[in-house]
Amino acid sequence: MTDTITSNIEKLNELEKRMSAYDHAISLMYYDGSTCAPKGTAENRASSMTVLTEELYKLSTSEETVKLLEQLDKSKELLSVKDRRRVYLLLKELNEMKKIPMEEYVEYEQLLVIADDVWHKAKDESNFELFRPYLEKIFETNKKFALYIEPDKDPYDHCLSEYEEGLNKKTLDSFFLKLRNGIVPLLKEISNHEQVDDSIRHGFFPINKQEELSYYLMKLIGLNPDRVGLSTTEHPFTTSLGSHFDERITTHYFEDDFACSMYSVIHEGGHALYDTGSDDELAYTVLDGGLYMSIHESQSRFYENIIGRSRSFCEYIFPYLNGLFPEQMKGRTAKDLYRAVNKAEASLIRTEADELTYSLHVMIRYELEKRVMAGELEVKDLPEEWNRLYKEYLGIDVPDDRHGILQDSHWSGGLIGYFPSYALGNAYGAQLLNKMKQTVDIDKCISEGNFKSVNDWNRENIWKHGGIYTPSQLFDRIFGEEFNADYYIDYLTEKYKDIYGF
Ligand code: ZN
Repeated sequence: MTDTITSNIEKLNELEKRMSAYDHAISLMYYDGSTCAPKGTAENRASSMTVLTEELYKLSTSEETVKLLEQLDKSKELLSVKDRRRVYLLLKELNEMKKIPMEEYVEYEQLLVIADDVWHKAKDESNFELFRPYLEKIFETNKKFALYIEPDKDPYDHCLSEYEEGLNKKTLDSFFLKLRNGIVPLLKEISNHEQVDDSIRHGFFPINKQEELSYYLMKLIGLNPDRVGLSTTEHPFTTSLGSHFDERITTHYFEDDFACSMYSVIHEGGHALYDTGSDDELAYTVLDGGLYMSIHESQSRFYENIIGRSRSFCEYIFPYLNGLFPEQMKGRTAKDLYRAVNKAEASLIRTEADELTYSLHVMIRYELEKRVMAGELEVKDLPEEWNRLYKEYLGIDVPDDRHGILQDSHWSGGLIGYFPSYALGNAYGAQLLNKMKQTVDIDKCISEGNFKSVNDWNRENIWKHGGIYTPSQLFDRIFGEEFNADYYIDYLTEKYKDIYGF
């Protein structure tokens, strides 16, 4: 490497460190707003976040930054894989950012802070009309920004590719069709069999005991308690503060069902394992903690479902639950738990859905986003369409907006195009399981409550690379083959045949 390149890389490190610091402050405010900030403080946060967002915008688009990145890009052949990728991504972000006028960008960030607050209120009151003007503005802005950045591309395709490079409607349409064709016949078959009794998860489970369970689970799956914190929120999420050295997960306790929070903790814990498993040298760079939500969800859903909802895991955790909730577990068995947490049933809430019906919830959101972005559906008609699709896909009636269109926090956070990541993540997870099984005795690890080999495999193959590779490059390295949804359909078929005995 020449001296100029070495000094430019040092400048880049310095720049990214400063960007991470702004990001740290912004994430911390968001985290505070979603966890413990008093209700009337959103405007105050929005005002500080505006200043920080402006500064971050200026920093990432300044002449100096442009010059530095362009210089590095000219000598990209001489850069390491890691640095070449950083330069590519930062330059891409910069070029996109420059196409959005700063005032509009800042105004949008401000809108999101208020929208999140309004969404909470609207959900509380089950009042979509309250949230509607904000959601209209969010969809409008996403469309407008997409066209600023890629005027010749379909705006929704642009949004999708923000969450996974190269992802588009065409790929997703055929993926979802395949999934639907695999899932619907299974659900039909299940409806002909005796329904599962899930009363083991219902009853009274004191929050302090559930909290104990959360910390137990975090330790069990291998999270470092010195670097991963836990708090409560309306809608569970995971966030890194500044770098993967400070990770926060959140959960939501329901006194009448311990399994909700239990699986939230394992799910968010999976995200945190991925983030904190990044190579330390990726800290304070754009590559830290991974870039693609589908890969992220493949990890969170892997721990939540493939591990957490497996027979072996239920057998392992049952004695602990029995000790924690002796009254409620009296006369119950690990098998009762296994069946209860895998009960396939059409339900209203995505985050509480079983593995089988889960992807149908995602498909509904995808259909709606696609049509709103294409101008075929108006935001004001969303609740009605939502309810109609729940009837069509899942056969159920939505009683109110709180249990319908207002249930997720994604749209209020501006995350248009995010939902498909969950379904893709599920399917990626099944393909990963297949590969991992060739070298790791996963069942034995789970039965012994020792996740070291599983975590080592994931760290080596996925976590440590952060955002260095695109999902298809990562698959190439791991599998030597392309993504294939058949693994997921086979996994679901085998599992549900076992549970329902057909
Ligand atoms: Zn997740």
